[in-house]
Amino acid sequence: MPSLSRAVQEVWEVVLQLVAPRCCCICGRALESRTGIERFVCRPCWDNLPIAPPPEMIYHELVCSFGADELALSGVAALFHLREGSPAMRLIYAVKYFGLWELGIELGRVLGGLLPHLLPEPVDLIVPVPIHPARERERTYNQAEAIARGLAAVAQRPVSTEVIRRRIATSSQTQLNAEERRRNVAGAFIGAAQAALARSRSVLLVDDVLTTGSTLNSCAEALLELGARRVFAVAVAKAM
Ligand SMILES: [Zn+2]
Repeated sequence: MPSLSRAVQEVWEVVLQLVAPRCCCICGRALESRTGIERFVCRPCWDNLPIAPPPEMIYHELVCSFGADELALSGVAALFHLREGSPAMRLIYAVKYFGLWELGIELGRVLGGLLPHLLPEPVDLIVPVPIHPARERERTYNQAEAIARGLAAVAQRPVSTEVIRRRIATSSQTQLNAEERRRNVAGAFIGAAQAALARSRSVLLVDDVLTTGSTLNSCAEALLELGARRVFAVAVAKAM
């Protein structure tokens, strides 16, 4: 029951805020701000995060790696550049492994505000990249959903977690090369209860990290099969 675990998560965050002052999740400095992204990251750390390459450049990279015929995505963008051990990595870890749902929401809000600059056209529907239910239980929530919810609130577009679902629990991708990643997620996503929402729509996929793009492309293939008109993707960070 994701909604119950999310409620528990939110209560837990409120309790944490009462018993311990919030610290910057990158440098550890105590934070004073109670609003926006500065509830989680101090201004100097935020301003120092390396900006991702422009959307056209990231997209070009995917076209070269997948081949134009194999690429199901029509556009892709990210906020930050990510290197192992980099400050942006701490941000991603905080959302993914330390369960900061609200940080995911704030990062999504930032993405939402920049959306008109990141995408070539407006989108109709927002879909977070699904994780397998077993992994969602482990982590208590899907970090991509938190980001998608924040993004959707700013972009004022509907979000659905029931358009596609992860059919198989794919193994971790971190040790795999581009070709292995592609094979690992091939056919991993299929239509879910609200699959019909994708029909004739321009869909925006949301994830925390874009690495080789194989997961996003596999999701995009599933969405196109469900009748989506075009599929775009945004991520908080682009891994180098
Ligand atoms: Zn800081």
